[in-house]
Amino acid sequence: MDFLPALFGMAEYDPGDRDLLSLPIKFGGLALPKPTETADSHYTNSTTCSGYLAQCLRDQSQDFSLVRHETEASAARDHHRETNAKRHSLRFLEILHRIGVTDKVRAETIKRCVSSGSWIHVLPFDALGNQITRSEWSVGLALRYHLDIKDLPTLCHGCGCTNSRNHAFACHTGGLLSHAHDDIARELILILRRVAQKTHVRPEPVIHPSHMPTDPLYDPTKKPVVTPLAGLADGSDDDEDPENRKRGDIACKHLFDQGTTAILDVRCVHLNSKSNKLKDPEKVLKSHEMEKRRKYAAECWEERMHFAPFVVSRCGVFGKEATNILRLIAKTLEVKWDLPYSRTAFFVKSRMSIAILRSTTQILYGERKPMKVVHGQPAFFHDNSALLGYWSTSRWS
Ligand SMILES: [Zn+2]
Repeated sequence: MDFLPALFGMAEYDPGDRDLLSLPIKFGGLALPKPTETADSHYTNSTTCSGYLAQCLRDQSQDFSLVRHETEASAARDHHRETNAKRHSLRFLEILHRIGVTDKVRAETIKRCVSSGSWIHVLPFDALGNQITRSEWSVGLALRYHLDIKDLPTLCHGCGCTNSRNHAFACHTGGLLSHAHDDIARELILILRRVAQKTHVRPEPVIHPSHMPTDPLYDPTKKPVVTPLAGLADGSDDDEDPENRKRGDIACKHLFDQGTTAILDVRCVHLNSKSNKLKDPEKVLKSHEMEKRRKYAAECWEERMHFAPFVVSRCGVFGKEATNILRLIAKTLEVKWDLPYSRTAFFVKSRMSIAILRSTTQILYGERKPMKVVHGQPAFFHDNSALLGYWSTSRWS
């Protein structure tokens, strides 16, 4: 049992969670099956798949039909997959119920993070820029399974207050929240530039350059704040600044409709904060989307631009509108790259999941002394053949 503590970067790991970790990633686990429990069903499936082939080998007088063999093997595999999915789903609910009896918040966290495990699937490739460091890995698992975060300082070295996960995600000292927000926006820009022409995607677009005379916040003596993705905003503060309020995070032409520009605005929400942890996470994300829409959508429409909020959680859960944007990107890439939708969807989602995980780790462990941060260009593939390895692990679950 040394493997799990090493995997989680902890001195010891609760063996009670072994059942949970044995489930596939989309059922909240880590795809670490228990061979003693799965051997029988795998053996049954194997004998069913090869039943016709074995029968023909034994009975040499019978003509072998490759089509029949493939049909029977395919049907057996589908049956095995469906049976396993039902079994895993029931097992997951049982485990959640068991955890929920003693720790309701943990059970809710695990339940919601089911959809945020794309980063676990990805094979690290230097050319793809999707490597995950040891600290990012352990932070990702700690958020997914609501565990203590390793080596978190007891005092915040930015403001001197008692440090905690909640404090780190709320402390603005040092600008880490805004840098993390900008990193997520930059990754989205990078992906959008694979969909649209490079010049059609630009950061920090001005939403309303010609102010209405009735705008109570408009001050003609103030110059627009030039904050190239390094402003004072983490996606929540920008709404409070009268000048930053006039800017989105990304403008992309032809995203929703040909000829029109879409303004996207990123926000990252901590779903386990004191005010959010007892609320339905879907409703929390939805409320942030609605808040962004109320502030920006009408002004964007005055300029005949679409507006869409891109709301995500620190643990990698995507809001409904963010999910729709990623689906749209994946569908465009499906045609452009001539690849199945499942592959492009996984590619887009895992890229964004890794970007969120990196930004979250940066908030927890990053330097909080105020300084000018120069954002490096995120690594991206230069050779499309490297993409072939991107989803090769996804079938493991
Ligand atoms: Zn602080």
